[in-house]
Amino acid sequence: MPEYTSLTPEIIQEVREKLGSGCLIEDPEKIRDFEKDASDLHHGAELVIEATSVEQIAELLRLANKYRFPVTPRGLGTGVAGGAVPLFGGVVLSLAKMNRIISIERENLTATVEPGLLNLDLKNAVQKEGLFYPPDPASLDTCSIGGNAATNAGGPSCVKYGTTKDYVLGIEAVLPSGKKINAGVQTRKGVVGYDLLHLIVGSEGTLGVITKLILKLIPNPPAITTMVALFSRLTSAMEGVTNILVRGHIPCAIEYLDRRCLDLVGDLLPYGEKKETGVFLLVEADGAPDVIGREIEEMGTICMESGALNVIMAPDSIKRSRMWEIRREVALRVEDHSPVYIPEDVVVPIGKIAEFVACFPEFERDFAMKIFSFGHAGDGNIHLNITAESEKERQKVEEGVRLLLHKVIAMGGTISGEHGIGIAKKPFLSMELSGESIRLQKEIKRIFDPLSILNPGKIFDLD
Ligand SMILES: Cc1cc2nc3c(=O)[nH]c(=O)nc-3n(C[C@H](O)[C@H](O)[C@H](O)COP(=O)(O)OP(=O)(O)OC[C@H]3O[C@@H](n4cnc5c(N)ncnc54)[C@H](O)[C@@H]3O)c2cc1C
Repeated sequence: MPEYTSLTPEIIQEVREKLGSGCLIEDPEKIRDFEKDASDLHHGAELVIEATSVEQIAELLRLANKYRFPVTPRGLGTGVAGGAVPLFGGVVLSLAKMNRIISIERENLTATVEPGLLNLDLKNAVQKEGLFYPPDPASLDTCSIGGNAATNAGGPSCVKYGTTKDYVLGIEAVLPSGKKINAGVQTRKGVVGYDLLHLIVGSEGTLGVITKLILKLIPNPPAITTMVALFSRLTSAMEGVTNILVRGHIPCAIEYLDRRCLDLVGDLLPYGEKKETGVFLLVEADGAPDVIGREIEEMGTICMESGALNVIMAPDSIKRSRMWEIRREVALRVEDHSPVYIPEDVVVPIGKIAEFVACFPEFERDFAMKIFSFGHAGDGNIHLNITAESEKERQKVEEGVRLLLHKVIAMGGTISGEHGIGIAKKPFLSMELSGESIRLQKEIKRIFDPLSILNPGKIFDLD
């Protein structure tokens, strides 16, 4: 474990002199808000810096190396893996105030933005120009573009449009040394040198602080249409998903909620429920109106052929937003439900989704767990919200979680599709990555950050 220096009054005074007093938060009450994220993890910090310039960030990191104190970058703190939690204390570096849209280059289909910008603010701003920024984490009204890039966030639209990394053309970042680099390009393509852009994007704030992003945009799809298919069994719903995809349809979202999740959001359902309903499958298509009208009908037919009880079309924006509210709200309600709550966001190959969900009852029986599952069925990214009735069951449940993750890997899947490793998933890293892969990643971290001052203790522990 690295040895860090506590922030003495002298060090804090030097930080104040070099960065300017306006960006320091020293009041312990106010610091508390920066010690946690949306996971249940937290750790004390000594100081918060609310950066407003790249120079402040560079200066802070130079001081961190000089005195050896840790610096934890933070966007808007919605991460669910503890990535923005200051595990070794020191400074939390908030990027929330660097939230400007620098420019929207309509003719290039790009936007240049600061990292603290809210995802939704970007989406709304580019839409006014007839453009579209697809990445849409369910937290889009509370998370930052910098945090999205650092975690390579995904969302419902991934099934058609890909994840955040597919839309980051270039970045400016301050390395742990305090030196600034530009990685990537401003163009649609570029293959010059090693791909440092995609090394830093997705590195969970461990290799550099992202201070500017050049983002790819696409034309705004002219129309969008939605349907909900209700199934009695989860396995048939997942067979329906596979059938839609293998028959050549590319919906822009296929999201599902299981029966337990439906019970949590039952008050929001805009239709009368058949009592045998076990799964809510939301399918969406975007593009030219005549094409998507036909496509959604065909996908509805495929769902019925796969065993759906009913298909409800939601072509207008009011019905559509009511359907989405159900999907978004469940992520917020599920956590409050139980004393033991372990969120996993595994991904399995799409052809294996039905086989995977079929194993849940066995795990529930053997490990005293209750699984609330929902998520991005279209790309096999299943959010498993694993709960238990009482704290006494925790050990047993954790053993079940471990075996469930082994099963995912044995099926050719991955233990995290979008939340990242942070602190929460560190114990499982070696299940998926070989010793050699982890060794190489630690070497990369040492090259970028020899004194391990930037976001230490995340993804893996250095030996
Ligand atoms: C209700 C809810 C729904 C969610 N749905 C989704 C979803 O659908 N898809 C999904 O992918 N995630 C989802 N998340 C998780 C979370 O919103 C994402 O991980 C998001 O990208 C985090 O952004 P943030 O600004 O809150 O980052 P933070 O939580 O502040 O930080 C996350 C990580 O990024 C690093 N970081 C932040 N900013 C920078 C920067 N400028 N430079 C370098 N490193 C930085 C931090 O150190 C940390 O490791 C959800 C969370 C909640 C609470």
